[in-house]
Amino acid sequence: TAPLAELDPEVAQAMAGELARQRDTLEMIASENFVPRAVLQAQGSVLTNKYAEGYPGRRYYGGCEHVDVIEDLARTRAKELFGADFANVQPHSGAQANAAVLMALMNPGEKLLGLDLAHGGHLTHGMKLNFSGKLYEVESYGVSKEDHRIDMDEVRKIAVAAQPKVIVAGWSAYPRHEDFAAFRSIADEVGAYLWVDMAHFAGLVAAGLHPSPVPYADVVSSTVHKTLGGPRSGLILAKQEWAKKLNSAVFPGQQGGPLMHAIAAKAVSLKIAGTDEFKDRQQRTLTGAKILAERLTASDVSDKGVSVLTGGTDVHLVLVDLRNSQLDGQQGEDLLHEVGITVNRNAVPFDPRPPMVTSGLRIGTAALASRGFGDEQFTEVADIIGTALAGSSDVESLRGRVSKLAADFPLYEGLEDWRLI
Ligand code: PLP
Repeated sequence: TAPLAELDPEVAQAMAGELARQRDTLEMIASENFVPRAVLQAQGSVLTNKYAEGYPGRRYYGGCEHVDVIEDLARTRAKELFGADFANVQPHSGAQANAAVLMALMNPGEKLLGLDLAHGGHLTHGMKLNFSGKLYEVESYGVSKEDHRIDMDEVRKIAVAAQPKVIVAGWSAYPRHEDFAAFRSIADEVGAYLWVDMAHFAGLVAAGLHPSPVPYADVVSSTVHKTLGGPRSGLILAKQEWAKKLNSAVFPGQQGGPLMHAIAAKAVSLKIAGTDEFKDRQQRTLTGAKILAERLTASDVSDKGVSVLTGGTDVHLVLVDLRNSQLDGQQGEDLLHEVGITVNRNAVPFDPRPPMVTSGLRIGTAALASRGFGDEQFTEVADIIGTALAGSSDVESLRGRVSKLAADFPLYEGLEDWRLI
């Protein structure tokens, strides 16, 4: 019964430090977001105590009458939000959702075709040290050297030659829409299943601000914690014919007991994702990314050899190309960290530097949009980043501007008192 701060002051202190960091700095890691308080409440709840192996109405444990209601709500909301026939909301994470998808769609040793990790793909799309690269034979497509976009004629050629069992679209670092109809037609042509991993752009899809892969793909997987703004976790959507295979691939295929506290938090965030407020937030996310891309293509920045991949963005992130700059990815990340802005370094396609250094930055706007930022604040953030990358030595004044923005948009007020979660 002792409160956390008394029972475990070391953990409590580190948590307080993290809360302060989130409040005092500007979070621009493209895969992160701030969850609403209701999501924190659901996640930090007594539901963590409950075992519920199986699915609603067919559990292997007693006492599941309340968690059944919660999981049913989450499944129904996921289906309604994305217009899908089927949803599984049990994956603990995006990677586990993807493991289940691959388990359902193909057998070990069969061929998977996905976007190269070095060109913006995800580890679970066939990277050689990941389970996906170890269990399956992998072929990759990339972006073109000229415009850094995925060339669908090229994808088609690779698919025809490779004859994959599954083609995966979706990405971790790519700033443009993909052509899902073209992916579908290539999959049909070569007799492959189409899987789309919409982890990054699911929130934009939910808001109707990004083309939906659902009508085209056999299976769609997602994380819930990126633009979608919910708890760290995954989900899977599909056509009804895949329901049985996907359910058994998640449980017992990949997981044991579902995390019912996380599923409750998913249900809450899927409800929020159907609101006008959510749509407005996704719109500010998109506009913010466009404002940032514009500022980073201005002459004072481009004169320093800094550019933006594809010249702009259609989504919630901007990929900064530092190949011709004095800064490498690590230095760029460190510089912005000093200024109080958190981003991650990221390899750019055809990157000459090693993966721990890289020549790029991935900068996202979803978390700041959740914090309430609109055009005015994104214009200020974009100028701070542009000025820093253009080589300003006045780090202190840039840090001051960041602190002002952070103070103007308070985060999780009153949360020190853990009873208030
Ligand atoms: N899929 C894509 C496209 C991602 O970008 C990510 C996370 O970065 C994942 C899956 C994996 O999500 P998780 O970190 O929850 O395993």
